[in-house]
Parts: sequence; C-alpha cells; structure tokens
Amino acid sequence: MVRDKREAIVVGSGPNGLAAAIALAQAGLEVTVYEKHEIIGGGCRSLELIQQGYIHDVCSTVHLQVKLSPFFQKLPLEEFGLRWVTPPFAVANPFDDGTAAVVSRSMSETVATLDGIDEKTYARLMSPLVVQSQGLMDEIMRFPAIPLRHPLMMLNFGRRAITPTTELARSLFKGERARALIAGMGAHSAMELERRGSFASGFLMSITAHADGWPFPEGGSQVTVNALAGYLTALGGKIITGHEVKSLEQLPPHDVVLLDVTPRQFLEMAEDRLPPSYANKLRQYRYGCGAFKCDWILNGPVPWKAEECYRANTVHIGGYLEEIAAAEREVCQQKHPEKPFVILTQPSLFDRTRAGGDGHIVYGYCHVPNGSTVDMAERIEAQVERFAPGFRDRIVGRHTMSTADLERHNPNCVGGDFLGGAKTLRQLILPPVSYETPIKNAFLCSSSTPPSPGVHGMCGFRAAQTAIRKLRLSH
Ligand SMILES: Cc1cc2nc3c(=O)[nH]c(=O)nc-3n(C[C@H](O)[C@H](O)[C@H](O)COP(=O)(O)OP(=O)(O)OC[C@H]3O[C@@H](n4cnc5c(N)ncnc54)[C@H](O)[C@@H]3O)c2cc1C
Repeated sequence: MVRDKREAIVVGSGPNGLAAAIALAQAGLEVTVYEKHEIIGGGCRSLELIQQGYIHDVCSTVHLQVKLSPFFQKLPLEEFGLRWVTPPFAVANPFDDGTAAVVSRSMSETVATLDGIDEKTYARLMSPLVVQSQGLMDEIMRFPAIPLRHPLMMLNFGRRAITPTTELARSLFKGERARALIAGMGAHSAMELERRGSFASGFLMSITAHADGWPFPEGGSQVTVNALAGYLTALGGKIITGHEVKSLEQLPPHDVVLLDVTPRQFLEMAEDRLPPSYANKLRQYRYGCGAFKCDWILNGPVPWKAEECYRANTVHIGGYLEEIAAAEREVCQQKHPEKPFVILTQPSLFDRTRAGGDGHIVYGYCHVPNGSTVDMAERIEAQVERFAPGFRDRIVGRHTMSTADLERHNPNCVGGDFLGGAKTLRQLILPPVSYETPIKNAFLCSSSTPPSPGVHGMCGFRAAQTAIRKLRLSH
C-alpha cells in the first residue's frame, strides 16, 4: 500500500504529548497518540477518587503555565470547553499566630501582609519583572536557546533565580513573613533550599502569580487536556487509550515517533537500538524526590484560623523559613520530616462544579525521598490541623497516594518524581537529554526535556518542531 501522508506516532497523552501531537497535525502529518491508561492526560487527570460527584485532580491543579504558554495560548482551547477560574490570592502562607502572608495580583495587597520593613524590598524584587512577565515566560520557554531576546531582563531574573532560596530570603528580608513566602515558593523546586537554583521556578511562579494570579480550569485539570484532545481530534488526530507501548518495535509503520516518557522508560523501549554511550547517559539520569499525596472530601471548607487562606486556592503549610527549609533538607537527606512542608489546594472554594452539596475537595502533598514507602498522611493532616483546628473533624473521605501509587497512576512519575527528573542546577543548565535521540526518527518530548516541568506543553511543541525540521531535511 502506498502511503500518501507522513505518519506520526506520539506515545503518551500528557500535556507535552498532546502539544506535540497538535503541532505535528498542524504541520499536516497524520497523527496517532497511544496512551497506556484508559483516560488521557498524564499529570492532568481528574478522577472521582473517593465518591461520585467529587472530582479530584490527581496531580496538577494550577494551570497558570497553560495560560502563559507561547504555544497553548495560540490554540482555541476555550472553544473546546476550557474556562478559567482565578482565585483572589494565588497563595496564602499561614502562621501559628493565626495570620497569613499572601501572594495577590495586587502588590499593595501582598506587601500589606508582610512585615512593614520588607514591603518596599519585596515590591522592588518582583515589580520590574511582573510587568515583563509574558516576555520572561517566552524567554524561559525557549531555554536553553541563545541568543537571548531580552538579555537585561534575563540577567535581572537569573541573578536572583540562581541564588539559593535561603540566602536570598535572609539577605533581602528582615522579617519572617517575607522570608516564609520566599521559602514556600522555593520549595516547589523540590530541592534543598540552600542549593543554588532552588529559587528559579519559585521566582517565576511568584512573578506570574503577581501578573496573572494562579488560574485553574473550571471542572478540574482534566478539562485542559480534554480541550487539547478535542482540538487535536478536530485537526484529524487520533487517540488510542489503554495501549501501553513497551518497545519501539511494536509500533505500526511511521515516519516519526515522539515519546512523552522519561529517560528510564525510553531505555526500556529501545535499549538494543541505542549506542552504549547514550544508553549510559539514560541510565545515569537522576530522578528527584517523590511526593506523598492525600485527597480529602470535607463536609465544609478547611476551617482556617487565618481569614486570608479562604481566598487562596494554594496554601503553603510549614510556617516560617527555618521549618520549611529543614523539612526540604531532610527529604533531600533521604529522611521523612516530622513536620513536612505541605502544598495544599482547595479548588472547590472557587469552583462549585467539583463537589456536591456543601462538600469540598482538598488535596495536600509533601515531598518524600524517591521511592519512599512511608505513609505521611498522619503528619500531613497534623500540619493542616495546626493552622486549621477542626480540620480532621471535617474529613468524610480520604484517599492517599504513595510514591508507588503515583508511579502506577503515571509511569512518568519514576519513584514518585513528579518533575520528570531531579532539577539540580546541573540538569537544569545542561539538560542531559533533549529532543533528538540516536534513533533518527525518534524524539523525546516529556518534561524531562527542556525547557522545564509544568503544564505548558513547550517540551512537546519544541520536540515536534525539531522532528518536523528533520523530516523536511530528509526529503
Ligand atoms: C502531585 C502533583 C502536583 C502537580 N501540580 C502541578 C501544578 O499545579 N501545575 C503544573 O503546571 N504542574 C504540576 N505538576 C507537574 C505536571 O503534572 C507535569 O509537569 C506534567 O504533567 C508533565 O507533562 P508530560 O506531558 O511531560 O508528562 P505526563 O503528564 O506525566 O504524561 C505522560 C503520559 O504518558 C503516558 N505514558 C508513559 N509511558 C507510556 C507508554 N509506555 N505507553 C503509553 N503511554 C505511556 C502516561 O500514562 C501519561 O499519560 C504536578 C505533578 C504532581 C505529581
């Protein structure tokens, strides 16, 4: 049979796999996506984990990067069901005295929750980059491409981003409240906060929070990937679910294959076709810490002591900098902190499509060593209870996920790692793997490749661009 159209296969339907598939379909290729699970979406799946009518995001919730993604923002996702919910505050960080610091789009509202002495310093740190937030995002999404389009802006960002979180917080701020806010943002890196580079993602997240808030899709993170899949289908793409690709050999004929998988899975799929030096590089790829996650159904909102927490979807639980830094340090030393730093989301406060009656869905997760088997539910709940007395009495349903459960849910979460690999400064600046592989028509496109983890699809988009360029050159 003569094929008259180039055929592309994408393995994995995470946001990067779907972004790659859309870019390939837009370029005129015939695209088929194979997804291991029955439901598409990878780190963007939403499931009724506990009870019908209560929709939990199993992984990601906050999709600010979808809104700011240079690729996704050009797609007609609203036509395929995407609606945004933007809570008043991106983040609240409660303290034991019953107050909280917040990150709001309004700088004056934010600094009013800090110690007076730090108000101006905080605004000076963020404001110049907040006004350039889209340019900053565009530049970071091109990483590590040179030349830089906005070198001065990147210098301003980079000199702060590279400073260890604890050093930056202590050198710039005198009060505990701003230091805590900085530490909580830095802790999203899943690195020791004393390490260089630990503030990079937190700095970008803070800037975008001030610029745009932290929006999430009404109905849950599944809505984002369903919209991507809807658009892909409209372009003629096909998605086959419940189909795990174990080896590249089992794929039907294709001109190009894009793999939304991490280095370890690629090695399993193709080891016999890879030169030993590249196979070794994949073997040496470092994975980061894992997560232990609790999902709850509550019979009312979390009873926060601090009023501000009712106006934020994301709550950083860990008090002041010393405690947050100690918790993250212990995790990096393969220990399990007694008082973990907990990232909690409470979307049903702002989106009533997610929970029935007066009920609420809430999740809280903490970092744990990669592959950890320790049940952290008790410690996570104790941390929430500390800032919201009576929280435990409101729990009517509970679901927990260990690192192994996360990996079962999504094979890309190797050992529970949810960032596609350790974000050490070395792996960030010199990514050990990129899109091209020694197999001429096979490309990696997951969050293990540049520019970074998160739901922005730019790893997939850029991998697809590379593949399209190669295809054109080869004909
Ligand atoms: C608890 C948690 C909270 C998070 N919160 C946020 C957040 O709020 N905001 C944010 O931006 N990011 C968040 N993230 C990170 C985000 O989910 C990931 O960065 C993102 O999903 C990565 O996208 P991806 O397409 O690279 O891979 P994934 O989303 O991991 O998708 C990979 C897909 O490939 C499939 N697959 C893998 N191997 C095979 C195979 N052999 N055959 C067929 N299919 C296969 C998987 O089943 C999966 O569907 C969070 C992650 C976790 C775990």
